[in-house]
Amino acid sequence: MSNNSYFVYQQNFEVIVVGGGHAGCEAALAASRMGHLTLLLTINLDNVAVMSCNPAIGGLAKGQLVREIDALGGEMGKNIDATGIQFRVLNTKKGPAVHSSRAQADRQLYRLRMKKVLEDQKNLVIKQALVERLIVEDNKVRGVETTLFERFLGDTVILTTGTFLRGVIHIGLMSFASGRFGDPPSNKLSQNLKGLGFKLGRLKTGTTPRLDAKTIDLSVLEPQYGDISPKPFSFSTEKLAQGKVCCYITHTNALTHKIIKDNLDRSPLYTGIIKSTGVRYCPSIEDKIVRFAAKERHQIFLEPDGLETKEIYPNGLATSLPIDVQLKMLRSIKGLEHVEIMRPGYAIEYDYIYPTQLKPSLETKLIKNLFFAGQINGTTGYEEAAAQGLIAGINASFAIDGRPSLVLCRSEAYIGVLIDDLVTRGTNEPYRMFTSRAEYRLLLREDNADIRLKEKGYNLGLVDSKDYKKCIEKNEMIEKELRRLKEIKISHVRDENKILEDLDISPLKNALSFYDLLKRPGVSYYDLVSFLPDKNLPDDEVIRQVEIQIKYEGYIKRQQQEIDKFKKLENLKVPFDLDYQNLPGLSNEAKEKLSKIRPLSIGQVSRISGITPASISAIMINLKRIGLITTNS
Ligand code: FAD
Repeated sequence: MSNNSYFVYQQNFEVIVVGGGHAGCEAALAASRMGHLTLLLTINLDNVAVMSCNPAIGGLAKGQLVREIDALGGEMGKNIDATGIQFRVLNTKKGPAVHSSRAQADRQLYRLRMKKVLEDQKNLVIKQALVERLIVEDNKVRGVETTLFERFLGDTVILTTGTFLRGVIHIGLMSFASGRFGDPPSNKLSQNLKGLGFKLGRLKTGTTPRLDAKTIDLSVLEPQYGDISPKPFSFSTEKLAQGKVCCYITHTNALTHKIIKDNLDRSPLYTGIIKSTGVRYCPSIEDKIVRFAAKERHQIFLEPDGLETKEIYPNGLATSLPIDVQLKMLRSIKGLEHVEIMRPGYAIEYDYIYPTQLKPSLETKLIKNLFFAGQINGTTGYEEAAAQGLIAGINASFAIDGRPSLVLCRSEAYIGVLIDDLVTRGTNEPYRMFTSRAEYRLLLREDNADIRLKEKGYNLGLVDSKDYKKCIEKNEMIEKELRRLKEIKISHVRDENKILEDLDISPLKNALSFYDLLKRPGVSYYDLVSFLPDKNLPDDEVIRQVEIQIKYEGYIKRQQQEIDKFKKLENLKVPFDLDYQNLPGLSNEAKEKLSKIRPLSIGQVSRISGITPASISAIMINLKRIGLITTNS
């Protein structure tokens, strides 16, 4: 069909978001809330914010991401608070740096609420369409074309196509083209991106079968309850809406493992049909049984899919074995002897773009005003996707306004770590966030995400003044309480020491401030309440911050000093278009890597793999020579 046959939509949009997954929703909401006319195009409007895999938000390091998204004004935290059915904080026996919230979601409620938020959003137009081509003129994106010969024009485009680019589903030795079970793939867009010069790779992920609760004997399984006093994800949620549900724990056994091993010749993973790399830390059950052959059993969590459904998600049982083997292996597990599968487990292979082709703003280096966010960039997980979507939405808005991009530093947010890892180091396997990826995790806690980022969210126009005021007040109360506790002296006389002894706290030899006494291991603020002259306590969140700041004071100070050093290198800016080929003192390898990554700071240069201190010095000397950094730097 000729170009004339296209229906050109009259309206020019400022931002066009392709994809209504977790990245697309945040991107579209951020851009429209920042006042830009935004269009969201997605293959199926019923599948907005669908959780393709487990019905849960948060978890280790992901909880931190959700709270950062919330502090910057994103929607994910509010959405899970409104639709979550079980809330837990993980890792509470460890230090606060690694505490992470996780919630079971009602899968259907989660997507329906997000769709309503999108529909109610001012400046946001939503349409069902499958985009197959980008319109690019003079290396600048101008809009998109769909399979129905529609042409939408826009100043910026954000691609958030998830697992859909040339998606192929595998179940046993059978495979078919699909973006996710029940959805078509996005094939032409993938070809189009290649044609435009992007380098694409291929990754794999997988999911579990979904089970019918009516056919499971839950009475023989160990229940797992949520927290008694569940905490919301969003700093603005006053009260969690949904009731609590219970999950159940069961295990695989020798028979399950035998069934799997006996059928590996029908596994697409072990017959070489699946060639791409899967999620290292979330392997399929067949992978676990082969790789960890000595392990006698693997834990399975049976998680309800929602309040109004009998579907159960067996977390830990991702598989792409044939359906008859899936059923046989499931029925070998305690409690599942008569189980019926409602939906099969499967694996999916899909294209992603090598994220080193992006700037830290998530704009592509190749085409101006074109942004990529989410699983298309090689990540896995709803939270990682949502975080990128939010940043892409913000930076598309800034591009329109001609403002400098928002780039979060590794020292201020997990989101900064995520994006810096992607654009500086790239990834050849699905990338998921871990607390160990963050150098300054004691400062990047989920409990202080508001203190770290709310001001930014407010300045972006994404956090309202009421929420921001609440954060300022909380911060002031923390400071005030810290000052007060330094002033309260506890004497070492008998009465005071008797109270301490009753609390199993060793007695004082000299008078001590409340502040210093609280530093002792095992002593909590609440233990010492009787020493407070004013019994009007600040609220729990303030007390928690005060406790963390006092108990970890030494570590926090040390980490802050490291950040100060780190920031010196981050503040030494490197021009995007620096001519590395003609820069003296660089090896050919360094020239090639630097020309590809195009780092924006000396700090970023130092994180590129294979860049030596000698190359860093060469760049510094040359930047000084041309006057871009001063001799004092
Ligand atoms: P998605 O949520 O995939 O959304 C993409 C959106 O783009 C969809 O709405 C789609 O309709 C739309 N779209 C695509 N192409 C076009 C087009 N051409 N035109 C218009 N719209 C388009 N994550 C984990 O953390 N752990 C897991 O174990 C895990 N397992 C998974 C198993 C499977 C089978 C799948 C499919 C995903 C799994 N994930 C897992 C990944 C998780 O679902 C994604 O990380 C997350 O959904 C990514 O969000 P996204 O917004 O980038 O993409």
